[in-house]
Amino acid sequence: RDVIVDHNRRPRNRGPLPSANHRAEGNNPLCGDQLRVYVDVEHDLIRDLRFEGTGCAISTASASLMSEAVKGKSRAEAAALFDAVHRMLTGGGDAAGAGLGKLAALAGVREFPARVKCASLCWHTLNAALAGAAQPVTTE
Ligand code: ZN
Repeated sequence: RDVIVDHNRRPRNRGPLPSANHRAEGNNPLCGDQLRVYVDVEHDLIRDLRFEGTGCAISTASASLMSEAVKGKSRAEAAALFDAVHRMLTGGGDAAGAGLGKLAALAGVREFPARVKCASLCWHTLNAALAGAAQPVTTE
């Protein structure tokens, strides 16, 4: 929980990203979380990533943790992380989030199904950005 509190109070990589060549918007109507994700991708590498938006502590902390986790990763590595995080959040995989580093701080969210969408919103938005989606994504 300390990691979540810290990343909510002092979000990493928050703000605009002028060099972004991919971007997407995401909404979680259930909670009211709104997020914009900016990504600077060169070839297959996520060189930089920032986010803006308003949302609850879980959505903000998750976006901050995600930004640290995927920066410098390839698209395939980011997709693999999303899979692992999704399994951790929905109970299909390792509940403790082994091998996920700080992202494992979100493991406890699975006990609160309504908050799973708060935690996964940033990942869905990142996916949309990397896919070049024109429409905002929604968790509904
Ligand atoms: Zn939320």
